[in-house]
Amino acid sequence: MCRTIAELDAAVADCFACPRLVAWREHAARHKRAAYRDQPYWGRAVPGFGPADAHMLIVGLAPAAHGGNRTGRMFTGDRSGDVLFAALHAVGLANQPTATGRDDGLHLTGVRITAPVHCAPPDNKPTPAERDQCSHWLTTEMRLLTPTVRSVVVLGAFGWQALLGVVAREGRVVPRPRPKFGHGVRVDLPATQTDRAPLHLFGCYHVSQQNTFTGRLTPAMLETVLGEAAATAGIATYRSSAP
Ligand code: SF4
Repeated sequence: MCRTIAELDAAVADCFACPRLVAWREHAARHKRAAYRDQPYWGRAVPGFGPADAHMLIVGLAPAAHGGNRTGRMFTGDRSGDVLFAALHAVGLANQPTATGRDDGLHLTGVRITAPVHCAPPDNKPTPAERDQCSHWLTTEMRLLTPTVRSVVVLGAFGWQALLGVVAREGRVVPRPRPKFGHGVRVDLPATQTDRAPLHLFGCYHVSQQNTFTGRLTPAMLETVLGEAAATAGIATYRSSAP
């Protein structure tokens, strides 16, 4: 049982539970992309990133084979991360707009980033069995963040389904039928009897190139959702404090 976020992060990085994903993450680490051939690859499960007392959580899908699986940090070193961290910086939740490696000096303010699947999957598509196998890590992360976390931005339908399952199993009252994922959808889950505060969920299109290159998700759309979720969680950002 992990008692702290630091223990959780260490345990995640040591997980070998999914044979297909372990094989794929290690295959990608051996068969490097040409641009990174001189770099060591992480090649392991990628833990969440951000403060242990975060008020806001961002839930993605899974690390990219040559992004997080290379750098060892969520969304770091790939095009999706370029968009996400630029937006986090624009609304005042990150100290810099870029993320290139674990020693790049990036700090997040009040927000943590994680995923329902912690290993890079082939074609960015984990199986339902792999999602279920990995869900206990997200359950633990939510439990450890419970004292502080008040809002969750979920990037895409896969993370939305995974998170709703986790919070329902943890005792949150989730509406039936379960709310559908959509960009701009907001779901307010009431506090539970165990003295927890309400939890506010925000749907946002994933920052994948499929969405950002086509204009389905623009920087302004992303910044709006991040800013609303931060304000709801009580994080003072540049945007929420702007006149
Ligand atoms: S996907 Fe999750 S459960 Fe599977 S090996 Fe990676 S960290 Fe472990």
